Amino acid sequence: MALKGKGMLVVLSGPSGSGKDTVLEKLKETDFSFDKTISATTRAMRDGEKDGVDYYFIDENAFKERINNQEFLEYTIYNDNYYGTPKSEVERHIDKGGCILLKIEVEGAGNVRKAMPEALSIFIIPPSMEELERRLRGRGTETEESFRKRLEAAKEELSRANEYDYIVINDDVNFCAEQIVKILESEQLRYCRMENIVSDILKNQ
Ligand code: ADP
Ligand code: 5GP
Repeated sequence: MALKGKGMLVVLSGPSGSGKDTVLEKLKETDFSFDKTISATTRAMRDGEKDGVDYYFIDENAFKERINNQEFLEYTIYNDNYYGTPKSEVERHIDKGGCILLKIEVEGAGNVRKAMPEALSIFIIPPSMEELERRLRGRGTETEESFRKRLEAAKEELSRANEYDYIVINDDVNFCAEQIVKILESEQLRYCRMENIVSDILKNQ
């Protein structure tokens, strides 16, 4: 019988271009198993993105209707677009008891922490602002205006790194992913997540 501790909700943030998606792809190649929620957004789909895989791409009216129906665990406006975590996405995974990862910006992360104080939070930072600019430009997904706004937002987001449990530098992507796995594996062994196993053992003695 596999003994399983309680599920773990993990918020992963970091300035745009710090490498969250790249690190997430690396994490998928490791043995650590996790589920990632799919957010809804009103921003335009980028080349290579798929609806229902990267995001649920919806228009502003549909997004507002979902806000009115209280369908979001949290939502925010970032760079003139709406982004939100559907409650149904968390519910879809929570019963499995594993690790659920939310890739969201700082405002949303704060709101998740308020709603679920047990959530763990990790903040990915670039090795320098110059490197962040280089990556954001190199990705080639932003207009000049969006690039500028994302850089401004990045400074604001970095100044809120103190709100997170862990800070991981994404210099080498493999090393960064390894460090995140170490964090997640250790956090799964915290007493609060192992409590049910201890009491089951005591009950069945
Ligand atoms: P985010 O999801 O945080 O916005 P991305 O994962 O899209 O960031 O990464 C932004 C750009 O930086 C991409 O072009 C990606 O290939 C590149 N990148 C990510 N991590 C690294 C790294 N460790 N070293 C060099 N380039 C990186
Ligand atoms: P991007 O447009 O680069 O995909 O995402 C922009 C920012 O929005 C990133 O910081 C990303 O983590 C964040 N984001 C994505 N989905 C959500 C969400 O559901 N809620 C919140 N609050 N932020 C999100």
